[in-house]
Amino acid sequence: MSIRLRITLLYSAILALTLAAFSVLLYVTVSQSTRGFVEDALIEETQRLIDAKEFRIDKIVLPASRFAGPETYVQTLTMNGDVTDRTANLGTVVLPLSSEGLQAVQGGQAWLETVKIENERLLIHSKPVESGGRLIGVVQVARSLAEQDRTLNTLRTILIIAGGAVLLAAFGGGWLLAGAALRPINRITQTAEAIGTDRDFDRRVTYSGPRDELGRLATTFNTMLSELQAAYRQVQQALQSQRRFVADASHELRTPLTTIRGNLALLEREPPISPEDRVAVLADIADECERLIRLVNDLLVLARADAGQSLHTEPVAIRPIVEEVCRQVSLLAPDRTIECHISDGAVANGNRDAIKQVLLILMDNALKYTPADGRISVETAVSNGRVSVSVSDTGPGIDPSVLPHIFERFYRGDYARSGTGTGLGLSIAKVLVEAQHGTLSAESRVAQGSRFTIELARASESAKTEDGNGAQPT
Ligand code: ADP
Repeated sequence: MSIRLRITLLYSAILALTLAAFSVLLYVTVSQSTRGFVEDALIEETQRLIDAKEFRIDKIVLPASRFAGPETYVQTLTMNGDVTDRTANLGTVVLPLSSEGLQAVQGGQAWLETVKIENERLLIHSKPVESGGRLIGVVQVARSLAEQDRTLNTLRTILIIAGGAVLLAAFGGGWLLAGAALRPINRITQTAEAIGTDRDFDRRVTYSGPRDELGRLATTFNTMLSELQAAYRQVQQALQSQRRFVADASHELRTPLTTIRGNLALLEREPPISPEDRVAVLADIADECERLIRLVNDLLVLARADAGQSLHTEPVAIRPIVEEVCRQVSLLAPDRTIECHISDGAVANGNRDAIKQVLLILMDNALKYTPADGRISVETAVSNGRVSVSVSDTGPGIDPSVLPHIFERFYRGDYARSGTGTGLGLSIAKVLVEAQHGTLSAESRVAQGSRFTIELARASESAKTEDGNGAQPT
């Protein structure tokens, strides 16, 4: 059963009960008050009759003016219940007196009872008459209740017909109102169904009513749709970049594999190639294998980062890491100018290995892209609750059109394409820094040089470092 029908039925049932209770109350009140009115009139008439001067138990004398109203029937009885006289309007009818009534009047009590004669109800008031200290007979005064019964019947018919009509109108009105009130819900259902079948997250529920419960439901539904749409777009974008990444990765892997395959074909050649060529081909194969290993390692790091594996972070002293990286790089490139300006006491919330890996990537790039006579410098600084480490070089700089793309996977600048890079270094560096809740940014000026800055949250001053040096407050 629909909510609309249930609400309408409930509403109609409540109204029907209210109407029924009201009708019964009205009917009972009217019926009792009319009967009470007739009873009072009868008692009064009986008393007047008895009080009349010319009253006799065996001969009824009706004062004409007094009985000009509704027809009144009078009958007198002996104390044994035998009829002594009756008014002519009774015709052949004898007013009855039940045995309980007779007992009551014999005991001096008046008695009221309703009897049915010729399909009409009569209300009879029987009262004993006392004279000289003893009961001499009974006066019965009766009046027909037909008029009251007709009035009550009409009232009953009106109540039933009017109640039914009101109920029907209320049901119709309730049905329409419930339909109007539930229309936004229907629209929400239709929209949800349409989204389900068409996968169209652009759709929204149109609601122009007040901001009541349904208004809020429509707004909440629309907000939920907007969020779903944003999430859906994000998933689509992620899927798209994933596809691009897989395509790029396959392409990058294919190049060294093709070179290796070609070189192996050279080695298989008959007659065999010269020993010098053979050495060169083997060196090529070894180079390509190295490149493959590097590429696969890089892909592994990115895949782990994408899988959401979070890095364990803790207060880490920056100085020992930078010193170590500077020492290693200086050993690898002894003829290059590398300056390290390390401030004391910089303690960041991060991961030691990840920070070192990022610094090595940045230093490797700086060495790769800076001419031999150029200068490379590493600086650390602490400010506003952040610890920063910058790697600057005096290399060729990065073109402003290239700069926004350098952190993209497999992106390589024009002059870098012929080099040994895979285009994954900076994307790995960025992923690693972000996994420590830090940022990696780049500034560059063409022909002047570039500067890459890692920023990490500063650890509390009391934090102890891994190597037991203790953080120095700055
Ligand atoms: P690659 O393996 O090519 O170095 P990266 O992701 O490390 O890949 O760098 C992406 C691109 O950013 C490089 O190809 C190069 O064009 C540019 N780039 C990175 N570091 C520097 C730098 N220090 N100076 C100039 N260009 C740089």
